[in-house]
Amino acid sequence: MGKIFLEVITPDKVLISREVDMVVAPGIEGEFGILEDHVAFLSGIVPGELRYMIDGKVEYCAVMEGFAEVSNNRVSVLVDAAEKAEEIDIERAKKALERAQKRLEQKEGIDIARAEAALRRAMARLKVAGRVRD
Ligand code: ATP
Repeated sequence: MGKIFLEVITPDKVLISREVDMVVAPGIEGEFGILEDHVAFLSGIVPGELRYMIDGKVEYCAVMEGFAEVSNNRVSVLVDAAEKAEEIDIERAKKALERAQKRLEQKEGIDIARAEAALRRAMARLKVAGRVRD
């Protein structure tokens, strides 16, 4: 299988910078998959699971908000935050989820968009963490 170069970059770090065989990412219009020789395109990224295959093995990471650029067999993902599945602190994500849920139950005097965004981040982390700890 032909290789593509995957970069996942946050303001703090370069989480991934390596050749892979395939990438599947959570685009704003749904999940999209990238193989060698994919047409160039740009997409918004929403909190969710980004997975990639290396020599037949699938690896998972959680990505938050940002965008992806695909061009010349290179996938560059720039996001607010990202963690490999093994690095995710499940207790922290559960607490973030509970906080967001409690806020949303209040209905008044809260920033709904902010609480919903926090909820989506926590759900993405818990989903991805579950991939390696079920
Ligand atoms: P919290 O309320 O727990 O801080 P958050 O969704 O507000 O969650 P972010 O703003 O998305 O957190 O991320 C801030 C930093 O903390 C980033 O570097 C991110 O990778 C890291 N981070 C957030 N939650 C977790 C987690 N559950 N496990 C590992 N790292 C995390």
